[in-house]
Amino acid sequence: MSKSYKRFDALEAVRKAEATLIARNGSQKMDMNIAKIFGESCLSIDTLKERLPGSVWKILKKTIRDNAPLDYEVADAVAVVMKEWATEKGATHYTHWFQPLTGFTAEKHDSFITPNQGGGAITQFSGNDLMRGEPDASSFPSGGLRPTFEARGYTAWDPTSPAFIIENGRGSTLCIPTVFASWKGESLDFKTPLLRSVEALNIQALRALNLFGVKDLRWVNATGGFEQEYFLIDQEYFYRRPDLLTSGRTLFGAKPPKGQELDDHYFGSIPDRILSFMLEAERELYRIGVPVKTRHNEVAPSQYEIAPVFEKANVAADHQQITMIMLKKIARKYGLVCLLHEKPFAGLNGSGKHANWSMVTSRGANLLEPGDSPHENMQFLFFFAASLKALHDYQGLLRASIASAGNDHRLGANEAPPAIISAYIGEQLDDIVDQLKSGKAKSSKEGGLLGLGIPVLPTIPKHAGDRNRTSPFAFTGNKFEFRAVGSEQTVSFPMAILNTTVASSIDVMTTALEAEMDKGSDLEDALEVVLQQTLSEIDNILFHGDGYSDDWQKEAKKRGLLNLKTTMDALPYLTDKKTIELFEKYHVLSELELEARQEIYLEQYFIKLNIEAETTEDIVRTMIVPSAIRYLNEILAVNDRGKSSSLDISSTKTLAEEVNTVLSQLLVAVDKLGKVNADLGGDTVPEKAKHLSQVVLPEMNKVRELADKLEKLVADDYWPLPSYREMLFVK
Ligand code: ADP
Ligand code: MG
Repeated sequence: MSKSYKRFDALEAVRKAEATLIARNGSQKMDMNIAKIFGESCLSIDTLKERLPGSVWKILKKTIRDNAPLDYEVADAVAVVMKEWATEKGATHYTHWFQPLTGFTAEKHDSFITPNQGGGAITQFSGNDLMRGEPDASSFPSGGLRPTFEARGYTAWDPTSPAFIIENGRGSTLCIPTVFASWKGESLDFKTPLLRSVEALNIQALRALNLFGVKDLRWVNATGGFEQEYFLIDQEYFYRRPDLLTSGRTLFGAKPPKGQELDDHYFGSIPDRILSFMLEAERELYRIGVPVKTRHNEVAPSQYEIAPVFEKANVAADHQQITMIMLKKIARKYGLVCLLHEKPFAGLNGSGKHANWSMVTSRGANLLEPGDSPHENMQFLFFFAASLKALHDYQGLLRASIASAGNDHRLGANEAPPAIISAYIGEQLDDIVDQLKSGKAKSSKEGGLLGLGIPVLPTIPKHAGDRNRTSPFAFTGNKFEFRAVGSEQTVSFPMAILNTTVASSIDVMTTALEAEMDKGSDLEDALEVVLQQTLSEIDNILFHGDGYSDDWQKEAKKRGLLNLKTTMDALPYLTDKKTIELFEKYHVLSELELEARQEIYLEQYFIKLNIEAETTEDIVRTMIVPSAIRYLNEILAVNDRGKSSSLDISSTKTLAEEVNTVLSQLLVAVDKLGKVNADLGGDTVPEKAKHLSQVVLPEMNKVRELADKLEKLVADDYWPLPSYREMLFVK
């Protein structure tokens, strides 16, 4: 059989999928009584309070609510409650759930079961089991922090993030959020620096607020709300695309005649099968206590978004990881695969994860809430300016925090923010910044009302500034939105870097305020001086124009802003002197820990590219070339037989030549790719990564271009890979 019958099988299967899935999943309504199901699979503060002895709860509450150091005495009592609650919910196992530096989450399950002397078994779970785990850590990336002869690693309970239960049809497991560290105490995860950065922010923000006369606060925390974009395609296609299987993105695929040009997908009505998937995924997230709120179609065909209500940074980051896991898991039940890669399809929009960030006090005040007359709101202006200063002073570091092989395809590609870090703050605040640079701010531009000219419709209050989708860091009302984060990335690291850099600017600005006040100024005058100076130093980071334009590239260069186009350009900023000083000063990461992270990122980058290069080669040699040869063979047969007929076969000959030319070029290109990819480019990780990005990647792109050309030439029934048209439009 020479034809690519397999692809047509896939199409047929997809056509039948809807009916099969409805039969399997049932078409009846799910119980969506939110008040009843929300949080039922998460060990909430209320449940803990209810079940713990009063004296223990009092102590634990201080840790959970006020970040007080954990009192180890409480662990045994909490363990008892946790086990009871979990077993009632059907859990037989528990796991210390952590975020190793792979960027994914890790779990090793242990059962509660302990055999007793009579030959039976009881369930047991001690304070020690709760507090400390000891996974065999040698297979997690450590960036040289943990040589294999010192393989020990520890997980430690994070009481500030609620434990939850993960179910599958056959049973349930209690997941306990933990941090992960080496035997010597070096962080091997993403949660530790996030928690440490929140503490740094807490200390500095409280110090500043004290000057503003706000003295009765227990803490300041960062808040995060993360908008997750993703693609869904039918699993039949996924299994037939080795590139999606190994790399999460298509390494081939000719542009379909219809992509996203008609803008007909964004906010369009959600297809039934997809909506069923979303409803179930949301329900499962509600049950774990993840407050998801928004769903809609995104710009590219088959692209969607889910967003929660914001929470405190640490819990929000855990919930973000759970959201990614749940999307992937539930998609399978609907015969779909959820693609979280930043750029699954060339020529279409990629996926990002807008990270909304702000600061909140223990009394619930949002420190980035401008109020109705921001020019008078000195406290807001102080924290707002501090955030901008952080962005300005640590552009390179922020860019490095979101650097990955996947995100490189997206940043600066006219769909996502450019690689240049800048801030959009809107007309009203821009005007206030201008006023502050030359002294006091005296007025705030009004938003006004938007009349729609139709008497029955309400007039809508207008915001005092429009949106700007092209900015990587936009002030959107009462929070900043860091838009350059990749869809597959953990948000913990960019959040940790935001918290730490902002803590540092608050520190610097508070010290300056104190110095002014020591000279005898009152708070208002001191602030005028500090804001004037700070904003004048950093205003080159403000940009309100089109971030996608070439003019901005030139303008940014003139302004001296960094333009770090690739991961390779950005990663050095993780370990430059300024970063090391910053992180050591605020005890977020040590020099050693930073170096380890940089090495891991580089390693991941080069391993990913290497896998892509090998997959490209494999697919070309074993799938694309054979299909082109079969097709060529068929044309040549016509040519042969044509000779004995009286037909004019000159155009068939031209076609054969055309196919043959591209095929020959492809064979040459893939040989070259194989050769450069076999060469490591050096012995060190940076050398290898550089070789891949500068030598291998361009060769891969050449191969793809030729293969995509062939896709447009070779008979459709010979083509082995599901096409973009099929994957994106046949649902
Ligand atoms: P927009 O449409 O401007 O992006 P949304 O109201 O849809 O704004 O919010 C987007 C995300 O920002 C949501 O996840 C929301 O919970 C989150 N968000 C709102 N306020 C804050 C805040 N103070 N801190 C962090 N995230 C926030
Ligand atoms: Mg948004």
